[in-house]
Amino acid sequence: MPEKQRKEIKNLSPVLCINAHPDDESFGFGGTISKFAGMKRPLYIVSLTSGEAGQSAIPLTNDLSTTRKVEFGLAVSELGIPSEKTFIGSLPDGKLADDPKEVEEVILKMYKRFQPGLILTMHPQSTSHPDHVIVAQTILQFKESGVLQNTQIMLQYLPDKFTPATDDITIQIPIGDFIEQKKAAIRRHQTQGKDVKRIIPALLPYEYFLLIG
Ligand SMILES: [Zn+2]
Repeated sequence: MPEKQRKEIKNLSPVLCINAHPDDESFGFGGTISKFAGMKRPLYIVSLTSGEAGQSAIPLTNDLSTTRKVEFGLAVSELGIPSEKTFIGSLPDGKLADDPKEVEEVILKMYKRFQPGLILTMHPQSTSHPDHVIVAQTILQFKESGVLQNTQIMLQYLPDKFTPATDDITIQIPIGDFIEQKKAAIRRHQTQGKDVKRIIPALLPYEYFLLIG
């Protein structure tokens, strides 16, 4: 696949990944996180919810929220991120769009705390999950209104929604050297076993993003 890179990441320091759920970091841009971590760039990972909604694919000895927090810690450690560089919020899983103000407040708080040069999240048109969409839209609104003036945004096209011919792709990150770390991180999310089984065989050696700013 030809390298296609019309825009450049100007400032990697620090990188802030903002996700709705504690598995988005691994399932989505785990390869890029692992790559940036290997470049010794300061990197923080935020999940706005503890992923307490839904089912578990394994028998639980604790509640789902607690179990998923543990999985998140193990997963990010596979990607090379220490737990002190992570944050899990307590917003309601599956219901983020019900209270956009609350989402705005937490994202702004995280922005002020970490002062990122680059924010990673999902492309809102690459996912049908309303939690993912509201997170991406909120970040984009902040960018448009000038709040994130000096911060670039990378919106990931998820592989299963990705068409290589898409003209919108402005950056593709080769992650071949980090694919094992990404797989290891994905496998840590045992409660999400169905997704793990679906995602691992479909992994690509690149992660694709729209770069803004
Ligand atoms: Zn998610």
